[in-house]
Amino acid sequence: MRLGDERESSNFEDVTGRSGMGFGGGGLGGGGLGCLLPLIASRFGIGGVIVLVIGYFILSSLGGLGGGSGGGSLVPSTQQSTPAGQSTLDPSTRRFVTQVLAYTEDVWSKLLGGRYTPTTLVAYSRAYQSGCGAAQSAMGPFYCPTDKKIYLDTAFFNELSQRFQAPGDFAQAYVIAHEVGHHVQDLEGTLDQAHNLQARASEAEGNAVQVRVELQADCYAGVWAANAKDPEGRPIMEQGDFEEGMRAAEAIGDDTLQRQSQGTVVPDSFTHGTSAQRMEALQRGYKSGDPNVCKF
Ligand SMILES: [Zn+2]
Repeated sequence: MRLGDERESSNFEDVTGRSGMGFGGGGLGGGGLGCLLPLIASRFGIGGVIVLVIGYFILSSLGGLGGGSGGGSLVPSTQQSTPAGQSTLDPSTRRFVTQVLAYTEDVWSKLLGGRYTPTTLVAYSRAYQSGCGAAQSAMGPFYCPTDKKIYLDTAFFNELSQRFQAPGDFAQAYVIAHEVGHHVQDLEGTLDQAHNLQARASEAEGNAVQVRVELQADCYAGVWAANAKDPEGRPIMEQGDFEEGMRAAEAIGDDTLQRQSQGTVVPDSFTHGTSAQRMEALQRGYKSGDPNVCKF
């Protein structure tokens, strides 16, 4: 991506120095790229969310967490190496995240006009208290509709390039743009609509609704990328960028993750869509640049 000295968004909170509370375990998950907590919470309660997400993490990770009790009780981590209160965020990562965020504000304000109000991105480290309960690195980045904020442990970017073999700046921007896509869904009433559908659905049907929500967010990420242009009107996407996003979308499909973690694939349990579906959604949005192609 071609990012120079563009505007950096001020809708950004760096709490990396104030977080770091956690279960004391190691490793990151990332199985749940784009978890949307309250949607699941409506089915299982907030405690259930944590159990579910961590359960999924243990399944999908070779590392595993220390002792996830599932109750959301935070215990101080003994592994914190920086003084409390001091940011642990790398300045270049901070710049990248805030510039991408600024581009999402420009694009969605243009596409939605006055209907768009920016989301805030919270960068935390290891664990933090979100408006939707405890945020844990293992959950992967997520959007919380209750406080309308995105929670991101930027260590997830390392996971993307190493564990998921999806390196590159656009792979990372896709993650942010996907979460902003959930914010767009929130503003457009799609999340409420999905919530209502799930309230009277079976578990398998509820998961299918969740997949549609996630695929629309992928499609919105593609729409964003197609419309992200610098002040001179030149696209910020460069040769090879889109392929980086497609690699990430492929790596974090439910079928791929399940095959890696448990050897088998259980379609009824999918919550984000298959690799092929996620790639198709991202591509559809990118090719057209029109949010109307991203039907829920
Ligand atoms: Zn998502």
